[in-house]
Amino acid sequence: MAETISNISLAGVTKRYGDVTALDGVSLVLEGNEYVSLLGPSGSGKTSLLRAIAGFEKPDSGRVTVFGRDVTHLAPHKRGIGFVFQNFALFPHLTVYDNVAFGLANADTPPAADEIRRRVTDMVRLVGLAGLEDRGVGQISGGQRQRVALARTLVTEPRLILLDEPLGALDANLRMRMRDELRHIRERLGVTFLHVTGSETEALAMGDRVVVLDHGRVAQFAAPDVILNSPANPNVARFLNRYNVMSGALRGEAFTTAYGDLPYGKRVESSDAAYGIRYDRISVLDEAAPAKGVGIPVTFVTSEYLGSAVMFFFEAADGHLFEVEHHLGKGRMPEYRPRARYQLQWRPEDAIVFG
Ligand code: ADP
Ligand code: MG
Repeated sequence: MAETISNISLAGVTKRYGDVTALDGVSLVLEGNEYVSLLGPSGSGKTSLLRAIAGFEKPDSGRVTVFGRDVTHLAPHKRGIGFVFQNFALFPHLTVYDNVAFGLANADTPPAADEIRRRVTDMVRLVGLAGLEDRGVGQISGGQRQRVALARTLVTEPRLILLDEPLGALDANLRMRMRDELRHIRERLGVTFLHVTGSETEALAMGDRVVVLDHGRVAQFAAPDVILNSPANPNVARFLNRYNVMSGALRGEAFTTAYGDLPYGKRVESSDAAYGIRYDRISVLDEAAPAKGVGIPVTFVTSEYLGSAVMFFFEAADGHLFEVEHHLGKGRMPEYRPRARYQLQWRPEDAIVFG
């Protein structure tokens, strides 16, 4: 976990606002040239973490080291870090070109005019805005404005870029396209991105690694498939929005819940006891079907189309809502009758127990 010349390191960073502990001893190391997603519910400290790295907030304790340099007490503009925020404010009276050039032209020691021209032209091309250089930023679309915001940050050549929900203001289609583009742009530049997103889908799709924050602490920091298959605790499983999480108590080979003792496959050690089964690992059977492994009686409530999948919602006797995901293209779409009774089954080896 030590800081080196080639990484970004946070060591025991704590930030309090009055009684609120926004960051509670956060330690993590980002490598050079990686895409890290930062996921967590609202209020978990994501923005506070970016602000502490950027230098807009001074931590109450802890250290921030960026590529071998302790920047804990350095002013934001001296840290060599770029930021892209959701509510990026472009200069409305300037063209695309001049917005992108602004940071270079107004640097403490600006590069020569022809170098500025070369770098701005290259960057405008890289983000797909070639041909729009002379447009006012009021004459381009929302997605194009987001690209201008990205370009004007990238053009200053920071080695670390902090992005706070940069796609939040875009519509769903554009968001999908920008996800791909952000990944490609980052790969071509070889810089480190720390990207805050409230969307678990976005975090898992974009990050080489994902940091999960919970109440100002790092709950897990791992590759997306590790987080998805082995969430570190029940809260991480909940944030992923892909697991049914049931409370109960671990008793040896089984986990005791409101639906009886349930067998499980994997155990993850955690101070918080729970039983998790993924939305897409559940079969819906007739209420009278013989129970194999796990069988929970439920009634069908409703369904929701998600484009590539359908979510089905079922209610158990105690009111707990179960979600079952059916991928379209996985055979005929099932039809369930509202308020009719069914049985949810899954293979014990697909279930995770925390405790
Ligand atoms: P996130 O970005 O994950 O939604 P934040 O980092 O914005 O979370 O906030 C973490 C916690 O710190 C929240 O409880 C929030 O209300 C509090 N907080 C953040 N900024 C301030 C501030 N300037 N003054 C007081 N409380 C703050
Ligand atoms: Mg935030």
